[in-house]
Amino acid sequence: MKAAIYEGSHTIRVGECVPVEPGPDEVRISVAYAGICGTDLHLYHGRMDHRVTLPHVMGHEMAGIVESVGSGVTNVAAGDRVVVMPLISCGSCPACLAGHGHICQRLKFIGIETPGAFQASMTVPAHTVLPIPDSLSLKLGAMIEPLAVACHDVRIGDVRSGERAVVLGGGPIGTLIAMVAKAKGANVLVSELNPYRIRLLEEMGIETINPKEADVAERVDRLTGGAGCDIVFEVTSSPAGARLMTQLPRTRGRIVVVGIFGDPPPVDLHRFFWRELKLFGARVYEKEDFEQAIAWAASGELPLDRLISDIYPLDRLEEGFRQMESGGGVMKILLDCGFAAAERDSEVG
Ligand SMILES: [Zn+2]
Ligand SMILES: [Zn+2]
Repeated sequence: MKAAIYEGSHTIRVGECVPVEPGPDEVRISVAYAGICGTDLHLYHGRMDHRVTLPHVMGHEMAGIVESVGSGVTNVAAGDRVVVMPLISCGSCPACLAGHGHICQRLKFIGIETPGAFQASMTVPAHTVLPIPDSLSLKLGAMIEPLAVACHDVRIGDVRSGERAVVLGGGPIGTLIAMVAKAKGANVLVSELNPYRIRLLEEMGIETINPKEADVAERVDRLTGGAGCDIVFEVTSSPAGARLMTQLPRTRGRIVVVGIFGDPPPVDLHRFFWRELKLFGARVYEKEDFEQAIAWAASGELPLDRLISDIYPLDRLEEGFRQMESGGGVMKILLDCGFAAAERDSEVG
């Protein structure tokens, strides 16, 4: 079977690979579609080589069909349409024992520490596999993982109907947060620089602001009669975002940090004191977020299909990386991992 194999910084080889037979409590899945994520781009640049074992197969956003199951598997069966929640926790560290297995202190992430979805078939622990309803296409199924991130972020932020939310950064995750917050009844403003993304957000009925052209704090003040917004999601991972995030919330407003900051940015702690702000961290997702994401996606209420910019065959992964880095008209790129071609004709959406 075909696999896109990472062999070190900037080196992907698409070659043949032997599928792994599922052992006890394991499931082998034919991968239909897999999304390319910023994390994969990071891996490709060799910035996460300390976490991977070469040669490595990336990919953690996927949907597919169960091919076979190992002994003891009861949650899914061959033929089931599924997605994978790519977290493998140890079950015994202090975080796991505290009930926070999703941020286990020895967490293994499928597609980073273990082989991922950029191959025709992947074998994973059964507990990571969740069925999806027939009404949900495999294409949109590949959007479940990033949507689950957004569901988690919005849940951690406890967004309520009627609230004013500001999302800093309108990439795939920021846009999904905006969609989920809007679906929960919040009034959402997204701050984004990329004109293509701004246009897409506006077409989906989400208000935007370009911080290069207008003052975000001023706009938020105007929208809220000088009060400030209820909640800010920081999704830019930039010092500018870290600076802006404290300027926007009302008294006792909330900030959720979603972006992954490599270096610690300057943060205005005086503003926390002055307005009694609250800061939350949000990393990956829990099972209820994944289930919520499946329910949202299956409901058809969110225009998820609008986020899929392109679908490439597996051997054009590097072209996908280049397109993502172009800063142009791109949101999410999916890979057709080989199985989907056969299924496409019978696909619903
Ligand atoms: Zn991702
Ligand atoms: Zn653990």
